[in-house]
Amino acid sequence: MARAKRIEPTPSPTPVNSEQHESLCNHCGKCCYQKIIVGRTVYLTPFPCTFLDTHTNMCTVYDRRHELNPDCLSIETGMKHSAFPSDCGYVVEMAPKKYKPARDDFDWEGEWEDIDEIADDLGVSTEIRGLIRTRGPKARPMYDEAFERIQATPSLVDLARAKKSS
Ligand code: SF4
Ligand code: SF4
Repeated sequence: MARAKRIEPTPSPTPVNSEQHESLCNHCGKCCYQKIIVGRTVYLTPFPCTFLDTHTNMCTVYDRRHELNPDCLSIETGMKHSAFPSDCGYVVEMAPKKYKPARDDFDWEGEWEDIDEIADDLGVSTEIRGLIRTRGPKARPMYDEAFERIQATPSLVDLARAKKSS
């Protein structure tokens, strides 16, 4: 099996102000999926944070995220843990020169027999684990599906925001 080690913090964007956030974050959703460290590389897993709306890649508890999810850290701390992918707007604008982005090309198909062990390590809920197992090793990541969805229908993000604040 892959020597997987949990990366504790699941970072989230903590923008200086909302305008800056809007301009830098493209809602790829990747920072809200759990990560593992294999060797010296950080990889995304298929397991979303329980507070993520996987349909729209939006946090359902954004204003209370640090209170409800202590592993949801600031952009600065996430950057120290290589938790953002290369195409994240914050990485493009703010990452230090030697920043090593999180990768999204882990061989889940090859490691599928160990998926439960990895999920145990990460403390993944039964519900989310069941969903990922049902989708199977060849499924596209849910963050990519949601990203494609909101590219095709940008108003989904507005709807998710309205739902969150209602
Ligand atoms: S990884 Fe970056 S661009 Fe993607 S959702 Fe997180 S903050 Fe936004
Ligand atoms: S609490 Fe919200 S922002 Fe933080 S990791 Fe979970 S879904 Fe993302």
